[in-house]
Amino acid sequence: MEKILIVDDSILQAALLKSILDDEYDITIAQTAKEGLRLAGTENYSLILLDVVMPDMDGFTLLKKLQEEIITQGVPVILITSLSDVQNEERGLILGAVDYIAKPFHPPIVKARVNTHIKLYNYRKQVEHQSKTDQLTGIANRRQHDTYSALKWNEAVRLGLPFSVCMFDIDRFKAYNDKFGHPAGDKVIAKVAKTASLYLRRSTDFIARYGGEEFAAFMLGDGWDKAFENLKKIRREVENLHIPHDPSISEWVTVSIGGVTVVPKVENSYTAYLKIADSMLYEAKEGGRNQVVWVTEDGKKIKER
Ligand code: GH3
Ligand code: MG
Ligand code: MG
Repeated sequence: MEKILIVDDSILQAALLKSILDDEYDITIAQTAKEGLRLAGTENYSLILLDVVMPDMDGFTLLKKLQEEIITQGVPVILITSLSDVQNEERGLILGAVDYIAKPFHPPIVKARVNTHIKLYNYRKQVEHQSKTDQLTGIANRRQHDTYSALKWNEAVRLGLPFSVCMFDIDRFKAYNDKFGHPAGDKVIAKVAKTASLYLRRSTDFIARYGGEEFAAFMLGDGWDKAFENLKKIRREVENLHIPHDPSISEWVTVSIGGVTVVPKVENSYTAYLKIADSMLYEAKEGGRNQVVWVTEDGKKIKER
């Protein structure tokens, strides 16, 4: 059931709204704006019904606060009011409320408006998700990589945490496609993505499909040795999938990986380190493929083989 938060100081009014929506939605009631703000930040609500007039903080102020918080920013807010004057309606809509419900309630209208806005919200979430996801593999796409890496890089700078960036690429993949066909190649890309994701699933890890058969990943918080170990594991696990390659090329499908760990400073850029990871990937290819090459925080180059 989708969750709706009602923020209303009047117990009677909140209970009435709840009774209108109860059969279709999971309703929570907050009796103060403060409590509403707290709840909105901790639970995943699909809609907030907000009373404009409350003693501790008015609905407009709460609406502003909800819009400032990343977690609650996207959640649609419908304002409830008995003030039928146009000025309040205008103010609420300008502040970003999606709609208005006026008292006294007419239950079918309340239901219809709530249903519409929840549908729109879910549709928007779905579109947002799709715009960040690579269709073939289900992992993040290049666009999401670009925005999210910038965000996390800045976080690492601010917190003084080590940041590991890496690039990996399927070995001799053109030959694989030539031998087995493009659709079979697509399946391999998806399998490699899935395998790598299993080892990059903490909230501080990230992996994206960067290009055709190339992936970019980063990890926040680990020193080079842990990051290097983890990526070696991924390299090994891909090999252990035992996906047959063109026998004239190699026995199994493998990946080469290049990476670098740094404690980033304000003057450093993510892109520069992604380039270093890419040149380490190139060295891994030069070194015979199916291996990891890493640069440590001290600038030392570590080769798996
Ligand atoms: P290397 O070991 O040096 O990486 O050799 P490679 O053949 O993998 O490198 P190259 O960059 O020359 O070729 C990459 C190939 O990956 C070319 C293309 O056919 C294939 N490829 C890229 N994107 C896709 C995709 O989405 N699906 C499939 N099936 N193949 C792809
Ligand atoms: Mg490539
Ligand atoms: Mg390749």
